[in-house]
Amino acid sequence: MKRIYMDHGATTPLREEVLDAMLPYLKEKYGNPSSLHSFGREARKALDEAREKVAAGLGVAPEEIVFTSGGTEANNLAIMGVVRGIAPIKNHIITSAVEHHAVLDTVKFLGQMGYEITILPVDEYGMVSPRQVEEAITDRTILVSIMTANNEIGTIMPFEEIGAVCREKGVYYHTDAVQAIGHIDFNLREQPVDLLSLSAHKFYGPKGVGALYVRKKTKLKQVFFGGGQERKLRPGTENLPGIVGLGRAMELAVADMPEKREKLIRLRDRLVEGLLQIEDVRLNGHPLQRLPGNVNVSVLYVEGESLLLGLDLKGIALSSGSACTSGSLDPSHVLMAIGLDHQTAQGSLRFTLGKDNTDEEIDYTVEAVRKTVDYLRAMSPVYRK
Ligand SMILES: *Cc1c(COP(=O)(O)O)cnc(C)c1O
Repeated sequence: MKRIYMDHGATTPLREEVLDAMLPYLKEKYGNPSSLHSFGREARKALDEAREKVAAGLGVAPEEIVFTSGGTEANNLAIMGVVRGIAPIKNHIITSAVEHHAVLDTVKFLGQMGYEITILPVDEYGMVSPRQVEEAITDRTILVSIMTANNEIGTIMPFEEIGAVCREKGVYYHTDAVQAIGHIDFNLREQPVDLLSLSAHKFYGPKGVGALYVRKKTKLKQVFFGGGQERKLRPGTENLPGIVGLGRAMELAVADMPEKREKLIRLRDRLVEGLLQIEDVRLNGHPLQRLPGNVNVSVLYVEGESLLLGLDLKGIALSSGSACTSGSLDPSHVLMAIGLDHQTAQGSLRFTLGKDNTDEEIDYTVEAVRKTVDYLRAMSPVYRK
């Protein structure tokens, strides 16, 4: 059976060019970048080059990049690190209700530890306004952490305006840009962002590697202890094959962006148009301010999990509206935050398209959704039409 992958928000395949760049560092170039001999120097050089590529992709200096084990760790380091850098002088952290759990749960943990926290609500499209941020900032605020683009519903936040508010108030601004890399232009020399998280496996790089951008002079302290790697901000022997892959993936993501964005928008709009022709299907997230490859819909009178499994039988891979922590049937906190009721949230599907999806795949998917929905509704006791 032909398999169709529409879950690029969960992870992406590794690009051939990225794998090729990594292979020497999994084979003959196995030195430790901290070693002084030729093997070490060879590894150090690759580490430096990867850092330059990531920095170039964001328009920042290489010294401002800290490699981590992925987006989760970058988010944890940003929040815990800045809190360690500034507390106890100030004690307040602001975030939004639609953040990834790597941000939300870190902030909630700090709340349990006695810090003051504000979790801003979002509008029906999943957006936080700069005004809300401005009103929430107090003279005790350390940090505002609001994502660049949402992983479930694709909504792009007004992150530059939010950053500008933070700058004006003298508060650090962190943004989880894990979903945005390769879709949104970053030039952090001009954009008012102090910390930014990214993860290689969301843009055709390897899993288990990412980075945190830390603007020069930001008061960030380490949260792991050990060696002196990454200017002590992230001790531990570097995942060199992964970091080399991240560098290459970043280079390609930036180079391909205009072309890829255009293709994804076209495919996305074709998918939305097809799906909305099915009765009682609604689009979630912002109609315009959304990631090129993201389509999130609620299909009324069906259960998302059944729909997901039915589509899986037809070879189509996607996510449903129950928490991405699979196995859990709690509705997603993002869909709840935009005001959906439990049932509607449970009946939601997320399609996240990638650069290799095709028009034929979109058309096949729309038909498959239609048939599966008809079948499930015909069996449903709550569907009476
Ligand atoms: C995937 C994702 C993360 C987590 O990144 P990992 O590298 O898988 O730890 C964080 N934030 C967002 C928005 C994501 O989509």
